[in-house]
Amino acid sequence: MARETAVALDGVRKTYRIGEPVHALDGVTLEVPRGSYTAIMGPSGSGKSTLMNLVGCLDTPTAGTVAVGGRTIGTLGDRERTRLRGTEVGFVFQTFNLMPRLNALENVALPQLFRGIDRAERRERARDLLERVGLGDRTDHLPNELSGGQRQRVALARALVNDPAIVLADEPSGNLDTDTEADILDLFDEFHAAGTTMLVVTHERHVAERADRIVHLLDGTIERIEELDGSASDGVTTDSIAGRESEPGADSE
Ligand code: ADP
Ligand code: MG
Repeated sequence: MARETAVALDGVRKTYRIGEPVHALDGVTLEVPRGSYTAIMGPSGSGKSTLMNLVGCLDTPTAGTVAVGGRTIGTLGDRERTRLRGTEVGFVFQTFNLMPRLNALENVALPQLFRGIDRAERRERARDLLERVGLGDRTDHLPNELSGGQRQRVALARALVNDPAIVLADEPSGNLDTDTEADILDLFDEFHAAGTTMLVVTHERHVAERADRIVHLLDGTIERIEELDGSASDGVTTDSIAGRESEPGADSE
């Protein structure tokens, strides 16, 4: 299959107007090939989260276009955008955004409601993901009964539970100890090897180096794109990723 584009930004600007206008993104053009692994780095305030929110269909640009999975998000209705967000994209937010009254298992199982899978299967899949992020013994805990790093991992499991085509992670290892961070990055590698498009914001060089390339943002523009070689993803086994072949509500060719 030819390498298609998973995400395309074309001349994207995002301006916030609270008093003085702030150009959070100021003319960003970027193509993210399907199945690629891109890291985004840049100082605080350079527009990293703004870019992720646009790609995650949580916001629309002031100017320019953002296309996700071939569809321009500005032209989609609310329902279609919600559906795209729920099935195509898995988003790990900087602030986790867990539901406070749901336990870890329920939080992870939640996004599957979009997909018409029965409850037992949803819970089994959620349990499997929680085990893979090292939280098999915390499934019944509420978010406020978990540490920051554990909440981070619940958010990650939730982002991966629908086996999304695109995973967006905004500083996913910020609160994690070294061992957990390595586990999470290995999990990203597994998803990447199985064909998932990865887009990861980080301020840590060693995290970024897992990617194929690093996009450096500065003051809302792309300062440079650094290609990393030696990412030998060809020989990596994919057998530990189940469910890739099950198609999440595919209604298009
Ligand atoms: P980063 O994630 O790289 O730290 P952000 O994308 O969060 O940067 O922010 C980029 C710029 O846009 C910053 O100057 C920030 O203050 C501003 N900004 C971000 N979100 C908003 C908002 N909702 N309202 C106003 N200004 C914002
Ligand atoms: Mg940010």
